[in-house]
Amino acid sequence: MENTADLNPDAIELESVAGAYWRGDETKAQLQRIYGTAWETPEQLAEYKRRKEEAIRRDHRKLGKELGLFIFSDQVGPGLPLWTPKGTVLRSTLEDFLKQEQLKRGYLPVVTPHIARVDLFKTSGHWQKYQEDMFPMMAEDEEAKQHEQGFVMKPMNCPFHIQIYKSELRSYRELPMRLAEFGTVYRYEQSGELGGLTRVRGFTVDDSHLFVTPEQLDSEFLNVVDLVLAVFKSLQLQNFKARLSFRDSSSDKYIGSDEAWDKAQAAIRRAVETLGMNYFEGIGEAAFYGPKLDFIFQDALEREWQLGTVQVDYNLPERFELEYVAENGSRQRPVMIHRAPFGSLERLIGILIEEYAGDFPLWLAPVQVRLLPVGEEQLPFVKQVAAQLQGLGIRAEADTSNERLGKLIRNAEKDKIPVMAVVGTKEVEANALSIRTRAAGELGAIPVPEVLNRLKTANENHGNF
Ligand code: ZN
Repeated sequence: MENTADLNPDAIELESVAGAYWRGDETKAQLQRIYGTAWETPEQLAEYKRRKEEAIRRDHRKLGKELGLFIFSDQVGPGLPLWTPKGTVLRSTLEDFLKQEQLKRGYLPVVTPHIARVDLFKTSGHWQKYQEDMFPMMAEDEEAKQHEQGFVMKPMNCPFHIQIYKSELRSYRELPMRLAEFGTVYRYEQSGELGGLTRVRGFTVDDSHLFVTPEQLDSEFLNVVDLVLAVFKSLQLQNFKARLSFRDSSSDKYIGSDEAWDKAQAAIRRAVETLGMNYFEGIGEAAFYGPKLDFIFQDALEREWQLGTVQVDYNLPERFELEYVAENGSRQRPVMIHRAPFGSLERLIGILIEEYAGDFPLWLAPVQVRLLPVGEEQLPFVKQVAAQLQGLGIRAEADTSNERLGKLIRNAEKDKIPVMAVVGTKEVEANALSIRTRAAGELGAIPVPEVLNRLKTANENHGNF
């Protein structure tokens, strides 16, 4: 379009104004800059406005604050969230869920330090290929610094798990060995790039490294994909596709031989074809040490986010000279699978808050049930039922603020508590609770034992009340 006269006057909207200097030079005249948006039809404009409002309503930075999940502090620094008690309950619930799934699948838990000698990252190649994203080295003095004999914060967990694998001579009988850790890593993002939970400087990866024989690679890869899909199902994330994140062979940002890359990329392709998954290729999206299968999630506003990732790696086993004793007694090199179904816990929570618009499914809600007494006389009963629920592992609380019922309900709605239980004289007499849920509205009076049962089942099965 060459002329603003050609715009559809019914599909234009002015959005904001701001001061600006002529050609950005503050010695020149000040101007008013007017921001607007233009569409072909009024319907397109309306859709644009709807999405914009939805994005504001769902913004995890705003909701995170309103729901009391996390804070940022200027004195702590940008990109470094602090988790409040409610946010910590949410994090632990996600962690516990994945730890349980991993236990069922033969993973072994490990814990590793947050810093290590530069030397470790020279062997892994991070120092050569990833230094820009790492926090600067801590060295005792200038000389140590010059010789690069200092410590760095870990940008990834892999080299640490490799040390545990390497600490003993492994037999083929021990493989696959699946080491898992919720490992906090640190990346030196530019402060201009930081925002909410989706871009932070310290975050926790639900990391695992699987050391497998070449023969075990395909089946272990499929097991990992199966776990990722089970996780997404429990989180009610349905809309995603798989990206084969391969290297751009014209770039020099990768380590390892062509042969290793070809084998790893072929293994990933075999897996998605076996599963009949919808996939597309992302050339240049690989990690510097190996290709990945990334799960790209499309949210309610059709925005795309990278969530889980699974990687096949022939390079780090080579660089760290990993071995196992094969059945015939010879020394062989294992293959590594790096995997993180959540990706980063911080990012995942940011995405979940926006996807659910703050309405967490029952099993994830920091407070699952709030008991609302009509008057002070019902307080002892309410407290006793709350204690019963807590005894079943349900996160229940009694509202003791002594406000009028209407206010108690409004507060519970504002806090997006999935289940509210109103208690008046009639309920106490009948040993019942008047249930109201975020998902289904008023359900009427239900006997306490039935409420306990239904809540317990819904919590365990990740379902609704
Ligand atoms: Zn890794």
